Amino acid sequence: MRILVTGGAGYIGSHTLLELLGEQHDICVLDNYSNSSPEALSRVRLLTNADFLDVKADIRDDNALMNIFQDFQPEAVIHFAGLKAVGESGKVPLTYYENNIRGSLSLLKAMETVGCRRIVFSSSATVYGEPQYLPYDEAHPCAPTNPYGRTKYFVEEILKDWATSSFKNSAVLLRYFNPAGAHSSGSIGEDPNGIPNNLMPFISQVAVGKRDQLNVFGGDYDTRDGTGLRDYIHVSDLASAHMAAVNYSAAHTGVEAFNIGTGKGATVLEVVKAFEEASALRIPYVISPRRSGDIAASVADPKKAQELLGWKAKLTLNNMCQSAWKWQSQNLEGYGNPPEN
Ligand code: NAD
Ligand code: UDP
Repeated sequence: MRILVTGGAGYIGSHTLLELLGEQHDICVLDNYSNSSPEALSRVRLLTNADFLDVKADIRDDNALMNIFQDFQPEAVIHFAGLKAVGESGKVPLTYYENNIRGSLSLLKAMETVGCRRIVFSSSATVYGEPQYLPYDEAHPCAPTNPYGRTKYFVEEILKDWATSSFKNSAVLLRYFNPAGAHSSGSIGEDPNGIPNNLMPFISQVAVGKRDQLNVFGGDYDTRDGTGLRDYIHVSDLASAHMAAVNYSAAHTGVEAFNIGTGKGATVLEVVKAFEEASALRIPYVISPRRSGDIAASVADPKKAQELLGWKAKLTLNNMCQSAWKWQSQNLEGYGNPPEN
C-alpha cells in the first residue's frame, strides 16, 4: 500500500517505519524536522535495508501538500506530525492549535483532492482528562485538561465529521498511553530537545550523567507507593498497533477510537527500580512537589484493540528500560552526534 507518514522522522514515526517497511509498504515521509532529525531516517534505512521517499515540508503548507499528494497518490495516511509538550501548550496555546488543528485540516483537504480515504491519527490518553473510573475504556467521557489534549480531542471530532461525511472514508484514532523504550538495536530512540519532560528519557539522562537526579513529582498520591502511576507501552508495540490500524482501515469505513496501552500500570518508583535493574546503575532521585496538571493514575483498558484490531502489547516494562538504556548509552547526544563506525 502507498502510505504517507507525516512526522515520520519523530520518535514513534521512525519506529513505525520499521514495521511498515518490513511489510513492503511503499512509503513517503513528510516532516519539517521541528522536533526530529533526518538522521533517524538514515538509520531506518540502514536497519531495514529498504528505501522510501522523504520530503521536508510542513503540514500547514497547502502547496507542498498538494504536490506530495499529486506525485505520491497515497492510499492511506498515518498522521504523527504535531507538537506534543503539555506544559509548553499552556504557554503557547495558539501555536499548538495552529500546528495540530490547522495542520490536520490541511492534510484532510489534500487527501480529499486525490480521493485518499484512510487516515490513522495519533491521539492520546490525555483526551480523557481526570479519570471518572479506571481503567479508561473508549467510552470514558473526554474532558482534556490542557491545550495539547484539546488539540487531540478537537482533531478527533473533526475526523468523526469527516469520516461520516462519506461512506468511503475511514479514520482510526489511536489513543496512546505512555510510549517508552527504543528499538532493540539501540540505534533509534527518543531524542528530546533540551530538558526532557517525560519520565523515561529523564531517567535515561540521569543514568548517563547528563542530569544529577530525578525529581519524582509527588510522593503523596493515592497509589501503591504514593508516586504517579501510568500505563507505559513499548514504542515497538505501539508501532505494530499502526500496522494493525492501517489494515483495519483498509477493511472498515467510518471512525473508531482505540486505547493503545498494556492495561497495567507502573509507579514512578517502579520505573526507577526497573531502570536500575536494566542498567545496573543507581538512579538518584528526590521526592519533589506534584507537577501541576498531573493526575494520580492512568491505565488503559486495551480490550477493544485486541478484539477489533487483533493487536495486543507484548513487551514489558523491563524491555522498555533495557532498550531505552541501550539507545541512550550508545547515543549520548541522541541523533546530534552520530557514533562513528
Ligand atoms: P515527535 O515530536 O518525536 O514526532 C513528531 C514529528 O512531527 C517530528 O518529527 C516533528 O518534526 C514533526 N512535525 C511537527 N509539526 C510538524 C509540521 N507542522 N509539519 C511537519 N512535521 C511536523 O513526537 P512523537 O512522540 O513521535 O509523537 C508522535 C505523535 O503522537 C504526536 O502527534 C504526538 O502528539 C502523539 N502522541 C505522543 C505521545 C508521546 O508521549 N510520545 C503520547 C500520545 C500521543
Ligand atoms: N514524572 C516524574 N519526574 C519527571 C517526569 C515525570 O516524577 O521528571 C512523573 C509524572 O509526574 C507522571 C509520570 O512520571 O506521574 C509520567 O510522566 P510523563 O511526563 O512521562 O507522562 P504523562 O503521563 O505526564 O504524559
